Amino acid sequence: MLSTKLPQPFKERMALELKEEFPSFIATYDSPRLNGLRVNTLKISAKTFLERWPFELEPISWAQDGFYYNYTTYPGQHPYHAAGVYYLQEPSAMAVLYYLDPQPGERILDLAAAPGGKSTGIAACLNRQGLLWSNEIQPTRARILAQNMDRWGAPNVIVSNESPDQLAGRLPGFFDRVLLDAPCSGEGMFRKDPEVMDEWSPEHVLSCAHRQALILESAAALVRPGGRLVYSTCTFAPQENEEVILRFLDSHPEFRPLAQPDPDADFVHPSALPEAVRLYPHRLRGEGHFIVSLLKDNSCGYTAPKGKKQKPISNPSSRSKQSAKPDHPELDKFVEEALSPLNPELGLTQRLSPENILAFGNHLYAVPATDLDFQGLTILRPGLYLGEKKPGRFQPGYSLALALTQDSVSSYHAFSPNDPLLDRYLHGEAIPQEGPNGWVLIGVDEFPLGWGKRVQGLLKNHYPKEYRKR
Ligand code: SAM
Repeated sequence: MLSTKLPQPFKERMALELKEEFPSFIATYDSPRLNGLRVNTLKISAKTFLERWPFELEPISWAQDGFYYNYTTYPGQHPYHAAGVYYLQEPSAMAVLYYLDPQPGERILDLAAAPGGKSTGIAACLNRQGLLWSNEIQPTRARILAQNMDRWGAPNVIVSNESPDQLAGRLPGFFDRVLLDAPCSGEGMFRKDPEVMDEWSPEHVLSCAHRQALILESAAALVRPGGRLVYSTCTFAPQENEEVILRFLDSHPEFRPLAQPDPDADFVHPSALPEAVRLYPHRLRGEGHFIVSLLKDNSCGYTAPKGKKQKPISNPSSRSKQSAKPDHPELDKFVEEALSPLNPELGLTQRLSPENILAFGNHLYAVPATDLDFQGLTILRPGLYLGEKKPGRFQPGYSLALALTQDSVSSYHAFSPNDPLLDRYLHGEAIPQEGPNGWVLIGVDEFPLGWGKRVQGLLKNHYPKEYRKR
């Protein structure tokens, strides 16, 4: 019984807050958690996915492309997951996208983005137009974020491993919308992830609130005048939610909370900050969440966060010289031989032109914006990783594969989800396969998974080692 293990001070605070609703709130801890998946609309429409998916799905009212699934169907193990056809995400967390409301063509920053639940949703909304900058401060989590974004296949994503204040110093007022899905005490996740309880204490709540206020300062500086800042947490503690925001609003008259229509009648508005919403597990089918949107006044200028003096930080990926517009004959040859005329919807045609290509040593990236200076920043992906120049040839990258479609390449090989050869490909094995020599885009049905290189009847496996099944 999880409800008996909840920290006592947490229960007491929730009892005071929820009053007669408290018993039904507590009862949720002894019922199973809910599981959600969100369809990658860059690859398939939610409608078509529903027609094709062999298991039952149920719409999540506040998430356009989100569905509840039964955990016994294990969608994480289906090859469609490896192809980035959907992302597994806690249902309440999907609501943040509704409040952020990213529009194609905008510049969006996801400041605390790992493992990438919200970033994948934003990338889908942008529909390959504009720019998504996904940042994560912790290096190992940033690497996971980069991998999840690779799998998602959006060509317009930058992934960095930076502190919020470093980014604020470099990109003040640069973004149309900034999401701060803040690190928090995680009270709303106790059911999903009971270990979170081990770290919880009233002191931890206060230290989270202090950290949130600091990050919020940086987040605010990154929003352009007239832009939107969305703050969210997965905790119930008012100290980390309304109180952080009300204090912030007191010292930032250029921001005001934005009231938005509720996507679900069971979202609750806290009386201290009625524009915000709280999601409670006893009221709806999801875990706990808090979300508020803030609008930055159109007429305000940029004020640097107090006490900031930016110093360059060490950056292994930018030590090699950035070259602006050199020739890349190896890439040109690859494009000519292996890619067929690119579907304009992919947004890749222009990205593959020399002015959009950035070289870090022999590694080539298609950048989503040409006016960015990455020097001194720890950037894991300055854009779509195209691949590596080797003497006389080009080795296409995994990210490029996932951003393509079957009609964009000269050679595509589709495995069906149950084909034993697909399993062998995902294990990293070479596979006998007749056909002309050269690069082959391998996929499950129409969804690309990675590259193979056919040489005299044998498909050499270029599925990255870190993604292989063990
Ligand atoms: N938005 C993510 C998603 O939807 O998948 C979840 C983000 S999680 C709630 C908060 C993130 O903030 C964690 O990845 C954590 O590493 C990061 N974080 C921790 N301390 C931070 C700090 N001081 N500044 C910025 N981010 C921080």
